[in-house]
Amino acid sequence: MRIVLADLDGTDGFVSKDTVAGGFGSRFIPFSRVTRVIYYMKRRYHEMPSMQMAYLAAIASTAGHEVLWTRDEFIDGDVAIVLSSLVDFRHEIAWADAMRTRGVRVGFIGLAASKIPDIFAEHADFVIMGEPESAMRRLVQGEKLSGLCESEPIENLNTLPFPRWDLVLDGYRQRSLSFSARAVGGGFPLQTSRGCREFCTYCPHRILAGYRSRSIQSVINELEQLCDRFRRPQVKFRDPVFTEDRDRCLAICDEIQARGLDLRFECETRLDRVDTDLLDKMYKAGLRVLSFGVESVSAESLSRVGRRPVPEAHQRSLVEYCRRRGILTAAFYILGLLDDDWTSISATIDFACDLGSTLAQFKLLTPYPGTPFWKQVEPLVYEKDWQKFDGFTPTFKHPNLTATELKFLLGAAYTHFYMRPSYLANYLKIHNTHVRQVIGKMDDKVIALHAHYEIQHMSRPVTC
Ligand code: SF4
Repeated sequence: MRIVLADLDGTDGFVSKDTVAGGFGSRFIPFSRVTRVIYYMKRRYHEMPSMQMAYLAAIASTAGHEVLWTRDEFIDGDVAIVLSSLVDFRHEIAWADAMRTRGVRVGFIGLAASKIPDIFAEHADFVIMGEPESAMRRLVQGEKLSGLCESEPIENLNTLPFPRWDLVLDGYRQRSLSFSARAVGGGFPLQTSRGCREFCTYCPHRILAGYRSRSIQSVINELEQLCDRFRRPQVKFRDPVFTEDRDRCLAICDEIQARGLDLRFECETRLDRVDTDLLDKMYKAGLRVLSFGVESVSAESLSRVGRRPVPEAHQRSLVEYCRRRGILTAAFYILGLLDDDWTSISATIDFACDLGSTLAQFKLLTPYPGTPFWKQVEPLVYEKDWQKFDGFTPTFKHPNLTATELKFLLGAAYTHFYMRPSYLANYLKIHNTHVRQVIGKMDDKVIALHAHYEIQHMSRPVTC
């Protein structure tokens, strides 16, 4: 069989799919001068090839099939598998329609297709619901998939072949820069585990299947293969909580060193699953970027969405430790929790600036289908266009804030965080106490300027 794998380019803004927002994807369209710069940086450092597609390529080629790869071009084959998303589904179904008129059977995979199959079903011969590998195994063994096809999660992740990046990269390059913790071109996504044991009600990462992890041997063998094929690869561990199991994480780091693997990596985790000894080990093994969710400064608000808050002091001490150790930190925040108001969001923005992670990402709380949070607010959801569930667009009637206010606060969050002298100081790793005091005073002046603009536009400053 000729199997075409399609991870289609997004049509507008910076579109991320695959494992972003669990697979629903996100679309970042710049809406201010600051976000235009962030948009540029995302394009440069955050483009990543699809790991799901690389797995499917491995399964198909192992079974002896020809695998072809496309980001947009129509390629004739016997069957085409399209990576679905919410944020760009119209482009995906249009592409599928065009392929079917050429006589190619088309199927969709991914979280969007799994949770909202109806929007894809009319445009496909089959829709794979669930993690796609089981159904793909059936397809390559000769089963004719059609309609809605359940795909059981792979219980033993060690049974999966390693992703075949050579079959799905098509000109993709990553370039490491000595001054940058991240490689140009993004990096290679790799999952040592899937699913998450936590219970955050808004999170789409935990709704497809439960937590499972790979053996250390399997992870290290895959890393070794990457190192054999690419010079000093930048690896992005896409586990929702990479340090979930401390001993396992330590063992992975030990083994990276024992085998002398020359790589750099970044990972995402919860800060209560990290300590300084672990960070030291991870740094020696190649950790250069640590991403983590803070979400909100309010422990009560977090508890109401099932998220266990991490003590502030712990967050501050670890961010400071990473700064001194040379590990870039990226903190995630969610604005618009149900009991948020202007003041509480301002407090979260203040905290983000004060915490001083190297980078910060702010998103609006988005009710994703299949999550408990979706069920909770479904009657309040007014947005009918699934493509607007992109993480940056208000989609439901918030009890305390209008859509205009939410969007303004989102813009203010980026402006406050990135347009302050101490952001630059953090980025340039300036630690001198005296210099930091001077920079702190400059921050106050910049905040006053922001407040002037905010009062002009919204009649109130973004302060708490
Ligand atoms: S910790 Fe919460 S937000 Fe993070 S992946 Fe797990 S369930 Fe999702």
